[in-house]
Amino acid sequence: MTTDVVVYERRGAVAVVTMNRPEYRNAQNSAMTYALDDAFARAVDDPEVKVIVLAGAGKHFSAGHDIGTPGRDVDQHFDNRAVLWWDHVGREGGDLRFARESEVYLGMCRRWRELPKPMIAQVHGACIAGALMLAWVCDLIVASDDAFFSDPVVRMGIPGVEYFAHPWVLGPRIAKEILFTGDRFTAAQAKEWGMVNRVVPRSELEDQTMALADRIAQMPQLGLALTKKAVNQAEDLMGMRAGMDSVFGLHHFAHAHNAEVSGGDSLGGQDARSMADRGR
Ligand code: ZN
Repeated sequence: MTTDVVVYERRGAVAVVTMNRPEYRNAQNSAMTYALDDAFARAVDDPEVKVIVLAGAGKHFSAGHDIGTPGRDVDQHFDNRAVLWWDHVGREGGDLRFARESEVYLGMCRRWRELPKPMIAQVHGACIAGALMLAWVCDLIVASDDAFFSDPVVRMGIPGVEYFAHPWVLGPRIAKEILFTGDRFTAAQAKEWGMVNRVVPRSELEDQTMALADRIAQMPQLGLALTKKAVNQAEDLMGMRAGMDSVFGLHHFAHAHNAEVSGGDSLGGQDARSMADRGR
């Protein structure tokens, strides 16, 4: 790999892609987004790879989008890969935000969800806000018993993170509860609600995830790809894709409202510290 914010390893038929900013709880800046995309593309192109595991280095899977580390790079130019739209750099207001988030958040998540090999999220510790998007684009989620999840962005006045899968992965009523409260939920709750496949002891997380990946890797590659596409198509026929498009409009209305009433701050006066302080 060309960068150290993501580590790529081949273990037999499994590619393990590890987010590697442990000092910032693997907060996702755009350098990490494009490094993830490089790693996933490498796994797709390697005919020996049957399954991809997405993991996080250090104590946590990920704290979500980078809204406050020294490596925050919101002004960085992208070579758009996920959507055919203009670059956000040099744009203003909603034009900038819509261009940027269409590419690095919604577009990238959709691109990854559709890659033709099964992906397993191996989740431990924090999986907050934007990190939920990464776990949700994976086909399966294996969580350790110490994993915890939340989407607290309603505190910013925003109706959930950009990849708005909540009603489809949690059901409408639980989606409302976790959004309305912003509270953390446990791996056991996530399992009960059908959001994760397995909950395992922390010490067994890696071994059990790899065992599952190895088991899936016994299946024929094209069969896996077509099966993944079949279920994804069914999910889209349940309204997920169109629903996300409509909610993306509400999301950007919320950013624009915040900017209008909070002196240009599209996050409504919240930052990483204020979100973390209240993230209980
Ligand atoms: Zn946003």
